[in-house]
Amino acid sequence: MRVHELAKELTLSSKDLLDKLHALGMDVKNHMSTLTPEQVQQVRSGAPAAPAAAPVPAATEKAPKPAAPPPPPPEPPAPVVEKKVILHGPIIVKELAEQLGVKPNQLIAELMTMNVFASINEKVDPRVVQQVAHKHGYTVEHEKKQPERPPPPPKPEEEKPAPVTDREQDKMPRPPIVTFMGHVDHGKTSLLDHIRRTRVAQGEDGGITQHIGAYMVTYNDHTITFLDTPGHAAFTAMRARGATLTDIAVIVIAADDGIMPQTREAIQHAKAANVCMMIAINKVDLRTANVDRVKRQLQQEGLTPEDWGGDLVCCPVSAATGEGIDHLLEMILLQAEMLELKANPRRRGQGFVIEARLEAGMGPTANLLVRAGTLQVGDAIVCGPCWGRVKALINDVGVKVRTAGPSFAVKCLGLNSVPEPGTEFEVYPNDKAARAVATERMEKRRLEAISTPRRASLEDLLKPQSGPAVQELVVVLKADVQGSLEAIQQALRDIKSEKVTLKIALAGVGSINENDVLLASASNAIIIGFHVSKESGATAAAKREGVEVRLYSVIYELLDDIRDAMAGLLEPMLKQNVIGHAQIRQVFELSKKGRVAGCMVTDGRVTSRSRARVVRDGEVVYEGALASLKRFQNDASEVREGQECGIRLDNFPDFAAGDVIELYEVEKIEQSL
Ligand code: GDP
Repeated sequence: MRVHELAKELTLSSKDLLDKLHALGMDVKNHMSTLTPEQVQQVRSGAPAAPAAAPVPAATEKAPKPAAPPPPPPEPPAPVVEKKVILHGPIIVKELAEQLGVKPNQLIAELMTMNVFASINEKVDPRVVQQVAHKHGYTVEHEKKQPERPPPPPKPEEEKPAPVTDREQDKMPRPPIVTFMGHVDHGKTSLLDHIRRTRVAQGEDGGITQHIGAYMVTYNDHTITFLDTPGHAAFTAMRARGATLTDIAVIVIAADDGIMPQTREAIQHAKAANVCMMIAINKVDLRTANVDRVKRQLQQEGLTPEDWGGDLVCCPVSAATGEGIDHLLEMILLQAEMLELKANPRRRGQGFVIEARLEAGMGPTANLLVRAGTLQVGDAIVCGPCWGRVKALINDVGVKVRTAGPSFAVKCLGLNSVPEPGTEFEVYPNDKAARAVATERMEKRRLEAISTPRRASLEDLLKPQSGPAVQELVVVLKADVQGSLEAIQQALRDIKSEKVTLKIALAGVGSINENDVLLASASNAIIIGFHVSKESGATAAAKREGVEVRLYSVIYELLDDIRDAMAGLLEPMLKQNVIGHAQIRQVFELSKKGRVAGCMVTDGRVTSRSRARVVRDGEVVYEGALASLKRFQNDASEVREGQECGIRLDNFPDFAAGDVIELYEVEKIEQSL
C-alpha cells in the first residue's frame, strides 16, 4: 500500500501521514513510497482500532492515574475549582493526557472521534487542545513565551547565569582569533601547518600536538589563536548557529592564480560577518607569482591594498619557504591591537563549541573556544542540551591544564553527550542548575523536533501539498561559467508567476561545496547545479542536512524542473465527481472476510477505485475507499446502473441494509503558475 493511499484512508494529508510515519521511525521517502503490511498495521494500530470500540466512557478505568501534577489532590468532585491546562508551546498527546489526568490511549481514542489521528508523541493542534480541554472541564492557559530563537542557536534564556556586565577595569586584552579563508588549493592548510610547525611549542610534559580545532601561537610575546578548520564553510556553519568566533579573517590568495570564485565568496562571507579582513598573498616563491596582479584584482573588487592608499593589509607569503610569515603574524598582531580586543577573565567561562565527538576512552569530548571568563576543571558547564562537570581540560599541545582563559581553546572532558559545533557553552554555579537547564533544553528540542518541518526536496515540492502552500521556492544555483550562470538567472527571472516567487539565495560559479549546502540548509533551499559536480564533502553534508542537490547539463530540463517545482508549491484543487449510488439491500456475514454489502446500483456506476460515502438517514456515517467490489463471485472493476454487486468497505463494517453508498472520484486539478 502506498503512503498516499493510506493517507486517504485515514483522511489525512500525505504530508501529515509522512510526518507521522517519520515520528514512528519509518524511513519512507514520499507519498509514493510503498508501505509494508506491517507498517500499515503499525500505523493503524498507532491509534486504537475502530472509533466505535474506543470512545470516552472508558473513564471508568481503575488503573491509577499517571503521576501527573494537575488533578487537584484531596478535593472530591469539586468542579468549582478552575482546572487549567497550561501550554508552554506545542503540546504532545502524552503531555496533554497527563495534564488532563487521563491515559494517553484514552485521549488518542477521544481525538479519533474528533477525526484527529495522532500518536502518543505527536503534537496536538491548539484548537483541538482547546476543545478537548473544554470537554474535560479544563480551561487552557498559554504561558507567556519568552523571546525565543529558532532551534539551532540553543541559547535559551531561562536560567542563564545572571548577565555579567564587565567593568572596564576588569577587561584585559585577549588574543585575536584568526581564520584562514580562500579558494581551494591556495594554501590555507599549508599556511596553518607551517605556522603550527614552526611556532607552536611542544608540550613541556612531552605532550603531542592535539587537534582541538584551534591552536595558539606566541609571537613577540603575544598570543594569536588560529582556528584550524580553514575555509568559509566552517566559518558560516558557526555563524549560522549564532557563533562568530573569528576576529580576523585572513583571505589566502595564491599569487599565481589570483582571485577565484571562492576567494570572492570568502570575502563576501567575511564582510557579511563584519570581521576584520586581511590578505595573505601566498605562493610568492613560484616563478609565476604575480603579487601586483592580485592587488589589481583586489582593487577591482573594491578593496584597495594599503600600499596603494587603501586600508587593506596585504602580506606576500610562502607557506613553502616560510617567507613573509613573520610579517603576516606581525600584521595580525597590529590589527588585533587596533581592534582593542578585550575580555574579562575573572568571570565564569563562556564561549563556543568548535568541534565535538565521542572519543574512545574519553566519552564525549568538546573542543571549546573560550570567549569570556575562565573555564576551570570542576566547573558545571552547559552546552546546548548537554551538560557536565569539567573533568579535564587538554590544550593544543596535549597538556592537561586547570584553566583556560579568553581566546584559548581546550578539549573538555566530562560532558554527558556530544554537543553540536557552534553551540554556546556557559558555566553555571553548580551541577544542579546546569543539569536543570540542559534537561529543559533537551525537552524543548524534542518538542521542536516534532514540530519542525523537514527540509524541502524537489519531489516534495513537486507533489501536491495539502498543507498551507509555500509561496516561495528558494534555490542555490551553481554553474560552470559566469556566462551560463547569468543566462540561467535571467531565464529563472523570466518565469513569471503571481502565486509563487523564486528566490535565488546564492548564484555562483564552481562546483557545489559544503558551504553551498549549509547555506541551502539554512534557507530551506534546493541546490541546482549546471554543468558542475559536487565536491567530496558536499554529498555527505547534503545527506546530513537533508538538502536536495540536482545536477543538470541541459538548461531546458533545469528550467522545466524549476517550473514544475514552483507549480508543485501550489495546492492542487480537489474536485469530487459523484459517479453513482448504490443501495444496500442485504448484508452478508462471511466468516473469513467479514461483512459484505449486497447492493443494487441505483444510478451511475461503481468502480473498484472509487471512493465511497455511506449515507444513513441523510447523514454521512463513513467516508473512505472500497476494499473490494464483486459481481457475483468475481472481482469487478466496474458495475453499472441496474446491476447488483457486493461491496466491502475499507475498515468499515457497520453498514446496514437501507444505507446508500455514494460513489465518487476525486479529481485533482493542478494549478498553474
Ligand atoms: P588549501 O586547499 O587552501 O588548504 O591549500 P593547501 O594548503 O592544501 O595547498 C594546496 C597546494 O598548494 C598544495 O600542493 C601545497 O603544497 C601547495 N602550496 C601551498 N602553499 C604553497 C606555497 O607557498 N608555495 C608553493 N609553491 N606551493 C604551495
